[in-house]
Amino acid sequence: MGAEELDEGVLLPAGFARKRSKMEDLKELNRRDCHGREKGFESLSSPREKATEWLSQLVEFSALPEYLQDNSFILRHYRADWPLKHSLLSIFSMHNETFNIWSHLIGFLLFLGLTIYTAMHVPTIVEPSTLHRWQSEINDVMPSYLQLNEALSSCVPGTFDGTQCIQKPITRWPFFVFLGGAMFCMLASTLCHLLGCRSAKTFYLLMRMDYAGIATLIAASFFPPVYYSFMCNPFLCKLYLGIITSMGIGTLLTSMVPVFQTAEYRQVRAAMFFIMGISGIFPCVHKIFMYQDEPMAYQALYIEIFMGIIYGLSALIYSTRIPERWTPGTFDIVGNSHQLFHVLVVAGAYVHYHGGLVYLQWRDVKGCPLF
Ligand SMILES: [Zn+2]
Repeated sequence: MGAEELDEGVLLPAGFARKRSKMEDLKELNRRDCHGREKGFESLSSPREKATEWLSQLVEFSALPEYLQDNSFILRHYRADWPLKHSLLSIFSMHNETFNIWSHLIGFLLFLGLTIYTAMHVPTIVEPSTLHRWQSEINDVMPSYLQLNEALSSCVPGTFDGTQCIQKPITRWPFFVFLGGAMFCMLASTLCHLLGCRSAKTFYLLMRMDYAGIATLIAASFFPPVYYSFMCNPFLCKLYLGIITSMGIGTLLTSMVPVFQTAEYRQVRAAMFFIMGISGIFPCVHKIFMYQDEPMAYQALYIEIFMGIIYGLSALIYSTRIPERWTPGTFDIVGNSHQLFHVLVVAGAYVHYHGGLVYLQWRDVKGCPLF
């Protein structure tokens, strides 16, 4: 009796090959119906049966192909090597990517709605009625903002002399760059989490798109604050926008390198996105030095600080894998770090949208003498 037996060309301890063989037999029986046909998704009849079968197809971390082995603290409920149709339909079933898919799909729909709302309801030219409304709103919530109030007073009918108000409508394109970046990021993320389980090829392709989406969102987020802060100084405006655009393209190209997508580079990925985001401090501080007497500049700054805290927290949670590292397996379906990261990204982008509105109002009211 040998200590080892040959099983498919691999030497295994005695008895292991026979045990494995029995397991294989059981799997084989399970895979075939009473006629000996392969029991795939297609052979199941009722939707309920199919739904149950989906769940039984979920696998544990240890059984995953290498390309899906990313977070060892998420132990169960993985989809692996699923066909396209079933990957798409899995949006309606429960597994460890369900929350990731829906959190950014809802985020995408939210920003699509905000884009439509902004295009329809945020006027491209400030009408007297809008100025009246803003004036009364500002009187209610910010009675100390006298300077802005004075500016508005000079623009309402009766006091409008055609020289103190905006000579030219302020462009909206930086605002829509941000909204477009947010929608692209969330849609790319949704597709990555939904279809990444198909194959290694699909997974790496979608991962690149996902990272490209994050880099795009960060870069696009700079456009409204930088453009509206420095629009009176075209050199500074182009300089800051050029720097952030270059950083965005650099991060995007780096994220295309295959090694960048591996689990070992998770910290590097987080650091790159974090540095990109944190570089927003420079134009923010610069803006405050330029507009020390502008209450609206400070209001926008407070919103940006709040947004920075949200994004910073999301990067921290993403890179540390809290809370699942404390109790592996507990947060497989709901509450793990990637899901918290998704929710914080949507929240941060939503706060940034409101910050963008403050910039728009500021420039619509004050205009720019050099513009
Ligand atoms: Zn994600």
